[in-house]
Amino acid sequence: MLIDTHAHLDYPDFADDLDKVVERAAAAGVTRIITIGTGIESSERAIALAEKYSNVFAVVGVHPTNVQNEIEDFLPALRALAEHSKVAAIGETGLDYHYLPSRELESSPAIAALQAGVAQDAEAAVLDGAYKSAQADAFRVQLDLAVALGLNVVIHQRDAWDDTLAILEPYTGRVRGVFHCFGNRPDQAMDAIALGHLVSFTGIVTFKNAGLVRETAVTVPEDGYMVETDCPYLAPVPHRGERCEPAFTRLVAEQIARDRGSSLEAVARQTTATAEQFFRLS
Ligand SMILES: [Zn+2]
Repeated sequence: MLIDTHAHLDYPDFADDLDKVVERAAAAGVTRIITIGTGIESSERAIALAEKYSNVFAVVGVHPTNVQNEIEDFLPALRALAEHSKVAAIGETGLDYHYLPSRELESSPAIAALQAGVAQDAEAAVLDGAYKSAQADAFRVQLDLAVALGLNVVIHQRDAWDDTLAILEPYTGRVRGVFHCFGNRPDQAMDAIALGHLVSFTGIVTFKNAGLVRETAVTVPEDGYMVETDCPYLAPVPHRGERCEPAFTRLVAEQIARDRGSSLEAVARQTTATAEQFFRLS
């Protein structure tokens, strides 16, 4: 009935009880799970899980915050993984400017003291520039791979909205993306959807301070969004703070159904059809 379109089942959080986690998901009506790689090794583990569980599918890619820890030319390895029959998309890839290197520079008093004033500002600009351009290069490489293989992309975007859209722009019509864990404004969601992309919502829609995200989830057209957990993170209410798991996709869908004045069944039917098409399932 429901599809959890963004889970990290390969994380150590699930090492001890994954069989039970997958069973609980099915019991809650979450009959398929997309597990997302965040680097080459993580993507290999995602594929191994997709081979083990018939209702699990893999997305393979290098997360923007992992780009600088990854083997320099990861493309050959990623391409080989992406050809697996249970790979449903490329990702997660994108841009994340939340923790720029200059922030660590500022928060390190020893370094700050050594590099006073202008020298430090210049150093910060160089470091941040290199960090951003490494992410942009890795993002483009993965978009090109998606185009070559006829797959879509799972996009991670944090504090980098304009740059993300600018990089995507030349790919319009050739590849679609889903802006996962969407937390931006309704008009930004509508801009992304107008370009052929999707957004997807996590358990954040159940949080007390989630007014903006809930407004966005009500605004988007019924075929413009999907649901996800991003587990093990972002467990919805009433599990907030606990380990999240795919079964909780149901709580996300229930909240959105209430807010949209719809039913769980209708939201499940529509988001599942959207996910089946986007990830080329079935
Ligand atoms: Zn993720």
